[in-house]
Amino acid sequence: MTVHESVLDAIGDTPLVRLRRLGEGLRPKVYAKLEFQNIGGSVKDRAALSMIRAAERDGLLAPGGTVVEGTSGNTGIGLALVAAHLGYRAVVFAPAATAAEKIRLLRAYGAEVHLVSDFVPRSHPGHLANRAAAFAAATPGAWLAQQYDNPANPAAHEVSTGPEIWRDTAGRVTHFVASVGTGGTISGTARFLKHASGGSVQVIAADPDHSTYGGGDGGAKYVEGAGHALHPDSTEDIWPEAFDIALVDRYFRITDKESILTARRAAREEGLLIGGTSGTALAAALRLAEELDEGNTVVVIIPDSGRNYLSTYFDDVWLTSTGFCASEAAAGTVGALLPDASAGVQLLATGLTVSAAARELTRRGVPADEPAFLALDRGRSFGTVHPREVTAAVTVRSLAAVGQSDPLAADEPAALHGIPFSLVGTGTAVADLALEAGQLVAVLVDGRIAGTVVRSQLRPLALSES
Ligand code: PMP
Repeated sequence: MTVHESVLDAIGDTPLVRLRRLGEGLRPKVYAKLEFQNIGGSVKDRAALSMIRAAERDGLLAPGGTVVEGTSGNTGIGLALVAAHLGYRAVVFAPAATAAEKIRLLRAYGAEVHLVSDFVPRSHPGHLANRAAAFAAATPGAWLAQQYDNPANPAAHEVSTGPEIWRDTAGRVTHFVASVGTGGTISGTARFLKHASGGSVQVIAADPDHSTYGGGDGGAKYVEGAGHALHPDSTEDIWPEAFDIALVDRYFRITDKESILTARRAAREEGLLIGGTSGTALAAALRLAEELDEGNTVVVIIPDSGRNYLSTYFDDVWLTSTGFCASEAAAGTVGALLPDASAGVQLLATGLTVSAAARELTRRGVPADEPAFLALDRGRSFGTVHPREVTAAVTVRSLAAVGQSDPLAADEPAALHGIPFSLVGTGTAVADLALEAGQLVAVLVDGRIAGTVVRSQLRPLALSES
């Protein structure tokens, strides 16, 4: 039995576990490195300890000081626990969409948490990083961790994660797979493994679809903690300094659906409860393993546990309401009403005025009652969209009504004159929908608005159900 002399010593030295069930039929050996075994429950404990120790060494953090960071959760949890242990105050700025469990954890460790709207341009003062920086600048004795650009973040993995993998595989690792948030994990670990293997270990970045790391459009996604989003109004796509892109040999792009369903499979088939980005990395590792022969050993990082996501990915009601359903649309569900599961919807740039939006829809020949969604402008006029990027729904008829009742309103932003809509997943039973007059229902397929249904479509079905 390992004895640790302090909580901080219980960070690192996580086990490698061979995936026997998910790896069945695959030629290479696939090992998962269980980072949720760190004392704070995630891979970020390593970076948190390393950054705080470096700040102390550099004289940036001293007794009575305050640790500040903008983080989607796990880094904050790591910082909060290390700060608690060492007697620092911890203040964390987190995106409003962060899982409730993670916010509660932060508070449990005594951190002060400020929730911040998470989808504004990087230059906006309300951006997470700017809020945290402003707070740190205004607080005497405060030190801003800046995990995205802090060299002590990747360094943590170069001195611990990488050597552990090399030691525990007895130098047999041939492929290393990890998701990328700040890039600290992949860069530090890869730097060590490349060096130890004379450059032969292949490094695979498992990147959530839409993330710009793997070539996506920067759009919003569900999987938390990995990938790189980009607000369309941002003038530059700035990647973290912690991410050394030169070390990545290949990117595998993994959809939210594949990440979530892989995490669920790991729990049910392997008995391994893992989080969303673990699902992303595992999906990539399994896909990679299909290509490889027996001589190979794949190691995949499991950044955190599924316990953080019991109310989302592992909750059947959440899965149904967001449209992440494994099977074809069943009879009696909203999905069965959509002509085509990936049909898509009319999209308009969110800044348009009432008259400009009406003109554009008319130009496209969109029927008067067909809804369109005002969304962050990613240059698409049709397709699917993450609901977080949508500001309002309109129709040609609703826009015309605005202009008729108040001609001055025609020059106002159309987003101020949206029609109410509700969000349901494809798997939602039609009988479960409230059928209020004029109600527009936006249908989520794999978490993105991909179609709409209106009352006239629902009424006959709902009646026949009852
Ligand atoms: N997965 C989860 C759940 C995370 O919280 C993070 C950290 N943001 C990562 C993956 C990525 O780790 P890194 O920042 O080291 O790239």
